[in-house]
Amino acid sequence: MVNSRKKKGLKISLSLTILINLIGIYSFAQNRIPEYFEYEMLKITDSVYVFTRPMPFRVVQGNVTVIINKKDVIVVDGGGSPDAAKIIIKKIKKITSNPVRYLIITHWHGDHAFGNQEFVKEYPGIEIISSRFTRDYFVSPGLQYPVTFSQDKGFKEALDRLDNLIKEVEINKESGYEKVLENLNQKRNHDFYAIRGQYKKTIITMPTCVFEDRMTIYRGGREISLLSLGFGDTQGDVFVHLPKEKILITGDAVVNPVPYGFSSEPLEWIQTLKKASDLDADVIVPGHGKVQYNKQYLIKLIESLEAIQVKVKEAIDNGVKSEEIIDKIDLRNIETEFTQQDPVLQFYFRLYFSKPLVTTLYDKLKSSALKQ
Ligand SMILES: [Zn+2]
Repeated sequence: MVNSRKKKGLKISLSLTILINLIGIYSFAQNRIPEYFEYEMLKITDSVYVFTRPMPFRVVQGNVTVIINKKDVIVVDGGGSPDAAKIIIKKIKKITSNPVRYLIITHWHGDHAFGNQEFVKEYPGIEIISSRFTRDYFVSPGLQYPVTFSQDKGFKEALDRLDNLIKEVEINKESGYEKVLENLNQKRNHDFYAIRGQYKKTIITMPTCVFEDRMTIYRGGREISLLSLGFGDTQGDVFVHLPKEKILITGDAVVNPVPYGFSSEPLEWIQTLKKASDLDADVIVPGHGKVQYNKQYLIKLIESLEAIQVKVKEAIDNGVKSEEIIDKIDLRNIETEFTQQDPVLQFYFRLYFSKPLVTTLYDKLKSSALKQ
């Protein structure tokens, strides 16, 4: 009798353990997506907030800036996925009951624009504003990648590319490579699936309003200037400037702690950044990463780009060939400035910044030298 009661008790506690575990697994699965798209909220002034994702480069979603006016709200980049936008909207509603009237998109990249659909759903009267180039790009094949990534073939190809990168890191075994592998394997085994889930739900939602060089929205004493300053990370980059509050939102023309070097016009990008640095601003909100409370990082970026341009030009003059340039150019000092020798940051500095930048600079400088 005692034994059977004991057995019964054991059975009950076992099923309880299984049930608790199942609930645990279930809630972990339920929580996974929100956790992936969770943001840190930063109060810049009483009525300007910035939402950022932790770096470096896990489930990349652009920074979101929320400007609260007396009767409405203006958002700059509404999150890079439907779930991210839902989280942002919830957070905005906790701060204010004012409706979002304008959603400004700094450029066409999905990590800044794939949350649009949720804003339209929640705020039917909303206008989505971008540069003309950005809106035109929304209907181009360039924005097919959510569809490609959602399909098995495209997803497998993306996984294969990442696997090749992982293999390279394993073979090279540079100092601290284990940390890089950890980051890449997280991406490989978790982030990619989370992103794919979002892409499957994404409905490309076009801007409804475009401008050419400049547009200004007035709200009481507040001025919100939208500026096309030239080629940045893309041809259609928009900077948003709040002159009274001295806040400048840059999109991916500025990314922290490691910049993006994907611009197809890096020489013009330097000029664009110089125009941006002439604007009166104490707070700089980059496209990704930490908000900056002075212009130091922006100036460091401009100076580094100029130094790299000089080095590439010298290499061309010395007869360095296109296929040798990445190995021959010495960017160690500049790299350390940005990465402080953190192995993961070093990895992304090379992958996202120096390699694409140096390659494009080489081609641009070489072809302009040939024309002379
Ligand atoms: Zn971005």
